[in-house]
Amino acid sequence: MANGLRRKIAKWAGYGILGALCYVVSGNCYNAIRQTVVIAGITGKNNRELNKEFYSEFENERQALESRLKQNDRDKAGVEISLNLYVNPMLKYFYDDANDPEDNSGWAKEVESAISGLEVFEDLGYDFRIENVYAVPSELDPLSIYDVAYFIEENYNTAEFNISFATNPAQRLGVYERLKSEIVLGKGFLRGSHSLIYLTNDTATNRRILAHEAGHMFGLDDEEIEEWKHMLDPNCFFFIRLMTQNAACESYSLNEEEIAIIKKAKERFD
Ligand SMILES: [Zn+2]
Repeated sequence: MANGLRRKIAKWAGYGILGALCYVVSGNCYNAIRQTVVIAGITGKNNRELNKEFYSEFENERQALESRLKQNDRDKAGVEISLNLYVNPMLKYFYDDANDPEDNSGWAKEVESAISGLEVFEDLGYDFRIENVYAVPSELDPLSIYDVAYFIEENYNTAEFNISFATNPAQRLGVYERLKSEIVLGKGFLRGSHSLIYLTNDTATNRRILAHEAGHMFGLDDEEIEEWKHMLDPNCFFFIRLMTQNAACESYSLNEEEIAIIKKAKERFD
C-alpha cells in the first residue's frame, strides 16, 4: 500500500518535472524562432548606390506618396487629428533591390500600408488628416525617437500626430549582438505627439506596430508581460491584443478600459 502510494507520487512528480521541462524548452525554442523571424524582418536589401540618382528618385517618390495620400484621404465622421509623416531616404535603401528596377517605390507603398493601421482608431471616432510627408536627412536614420523628434520640432511645422519612419538601428549590429539585443520595432510617446516606426520586411507587422505606437500616443500603456519575456507568453494563448509587446501575439483588439482612454483623448483634439 505505502509502496503503491510512493510509486504514484513519484509518477506524478515525474510528469510535473517533464511538463516544466517541456514548458521551458518549448518556450526557449519559441523565443529563438521569434528572434530569428524578427532579425530576418529588419535585414534590408541595402545594395543601391547612394548617389544623386538615388536621392532624386527618393524625392520624386516622396512627392508622389504625399499627393497620393492627400488624394485618397476621405473625410470621416469623428474628431479630426492632423497628421505629418516623416520619411528617411534610408527606407528606400532598405527596400530597393539594385537588381530589380521595378521595386523603386516599394518603400512608399510600405509607408502607405503601415498608416492604414490607424483604422482601428477611425472606428472609435477619429479622422486623420494628412498634411505633409516630409523628408528627413539620412543621418537621422539610425537614431532614437528623441533625436528624430527634436529635429522635427526644430525644423518643421508639426501636426497633432507626427509619425516618423526609419530602418532598424539593430540592422547595423553583428549577428551575435543582434541576438543579445532586445530589438524594438517602434516607439511612441505616451499621450505625446511623436512616434517612430522601424519598418520591417513584413507589411502586416509594419501596420500593427504603427497601430500599437499610435495607441501610446492616445495614452495606452504596454501590456505587462515582462516576467514571461523568456518563456511562453500566456497572452498568446488566452488573448491576442494590440498593446502586448510580443509581436507574435499582436492584433488590433482593445479592452474596454483602453477604448475608454482612446475616446476620452478626444478632449485633447477638439
Ligand atoms: Zn509599446
